[in-house]
Amino acid sequence: MTATDISPTTVGVRTVDVIVIGAGFSGIDMVAQLLEQGRSVQGIEAGSGVGGTWYWNRYPGARCDCISLEYQYTRFRHLVEEFRPSERYPAQPEILSYLQNAADKLGVTEHFRFNTRVTSATYDQDANRWLIRTDRGEEYRCKWFIPAVGCLSTGQIPDFPGLANYRGETYHTGTWPKGGVDLAGKRVAVIGTGSSGVQVIPEVAKQAASLTVFQRTPAFSLDYGPLPMDAQVRDEFVANFDDYVHKSRTTPAGQYTEPLPHSALEHSEEERNAVYEERWNRHRAIDLIAVYPDLFTNMDANHTISEFFRGKIRSKVTDPALAETLSPRTYPLGAKRMTLNTGYFETYNRENVRLVDLRQDPLLEFTETGIRTESGEHEFDAVIFATGFDAVTGSWLKLNITGRDGAKLADAWADGPETYLGLMVSEFPNMFMITGPGSPNVLTNVVCAIEQHVDWVAEAIAHFEEHDVQTVEADETAQTEWTETCAEMAAYTLYPEGNSWYTGANIPGKPKVMMSYVGGLDGYRRICDDVRDDSYRGFIVK
Ligand code: NAP
Repeated sequence: MTATDISPTTVGVRTVDVIVIGAGFSGIDMVAQLLEQGRSVQGIEAGSGVGGTWYWNRYPGARCDCISLEYQYTRFRHLVEEFRPSERYPAQPEILSYLQNAADKLGVTEHFRFNTRVTSATYDQDANRWLIRTDRGEEYRCKWFIPAVGCLSTGQIPDFPGLANYRGETYHTGTWPKGGVDLAGKRVAVIGTGSSGVQVIPEVAKQAASLTVFQRTPAFSLDYGPLPMDAQVRDEFVANFDDYVHKSRTTPAGQYTEPLPHSALEHSEEERNAVYEERWNRHRAIDLIAVYPDLFTNMDANHTISEFFRGKIRSKVTDPALAETLSPRTYPLGAKRMTLNTGYFETYNRENVRLVDLRQDPLLEFTETGIRTESGEHEFDAVIFATGFDAVTGSWLKLNITGRDGAKLADAWADGPETYLGLMVSEFPNMFMITGPGSPNVLTNVVCAIEQHVDWVAEAIAHFEEHDVQTVEADETAQTEWTETCAEMAAYTLYPEGNSWYTGANIPGKPKVMMSYVGGLDGYRRICDDVRDDSYRGFIVK
């Protein structure tokens, strides 16, 4: 019996087999695969269209840090054949249009309810069904509940003193207005110098009368390099697509590269810098940051590549004191996610751009007209918050999820997220997460991580339905063991040194836990396949 055989118990409740929340890369793929299985699926999405993170992040300069040919679905070969990106690294509009086209061609768009936000998801254990409520007053019942809400979709604006008093325009990069923003001739502030900041800053500097950047921690950044796509490279990529898929699926980051087989410290400084320079000029992050196997595990090895990056900053910024202020020194490269940029450091050579180092000149408060720091007041017409996200867990917790016996996900994760394989949580039956905490998620080419999860979940649901299974849930012991394994492995890396969103350290009060499995997507894939082949070991299946 499938959920489609069950009648709604309440008038006005729509009953389907599966609810999928989110119409980004993961939601589109998930809905497509479930439709292929013949299931009834309802997608729910807060935006007015598909795109997920690429729907919301429309700020000028928004561009992916993964190269375009590798940032596409691999399972739908007709889409691969027709995909002709114009640039080597895709800008937001091109990714959005790729996803719109994919959702249309896969017949997914019409299965989504847009402009609709989920307000709660509650498990009815008598009926073994999830009840999903939305901000439109709608209710849905389903057997399988799949939040595919993404890891970086809940923006955060810090609780700056006096912010409510500020009368100028305010924007967050992650919810940029659809129609764009006219900053021409305005005095603009940008707070934050992570990936979003380093991308938006050069573009704002070109439009605004003046730009003041408020930096708390400087960023390591790689140049995007030449952007136009070489048609021959694209054709060769498509001709060798199976080879690409195989290689990307058998590497830790879902991106093929050729690491050298020894420590960075076994090379002389001259040899190392020659290696770094050659890899820098490939303009592909993984080729550079994974060139030696110990760059993320050995502080001395990491120091060598961090210093190489600082040398690049010195070569781009004319004022040596400014170059030093822009040089990261408080964390190892990679412990905060490395950024990619087009002309970021050179932007500080412009006369209309000023940097405020918040470590030297702390932000005291917002005023009606701007921002007061220790050294004085700065007036602005517009302030752009490039201050990041309540990452990985934020979007799940916002759904107000209640599982078996009234268990709240917010309570279950109060000391940090616990999951089994990043796929399921004990006490929350039939809820599968896509790229959940405890999976490789953001440490990979995320499209590869998404495809691995969606394929696994789709196959699992097909299997459970075929065997008339009513409930599937993570076993608590398996979950504890997996969570401990994730923490132990993370402790061997330099990630805890970064005070970044990877560990929740960017949100005051959030438990500091590495939220990704650091063991690599290739190894993780083998574990998930092994669990499946061993009768879904670690899941309670009834
Ligand atoms: P982020 O990396 O978390 O950066 C936020 C910035 O805001 C940091 O510089 C942070 O400083 C600063 N900040 C936060 N709170 C502050 C406060 N109270 N006072 C002053 N400064 C504060 O966020 P993001 O730049 O939006 O990027 C998040 C992730 O999204 C990226 O790492 C990446 O994975 C993804 N993303 C990717 C792309 C791309 O593909 N190219 C583009 C954009 C985003 P501290 O470092 O001191 O906390």
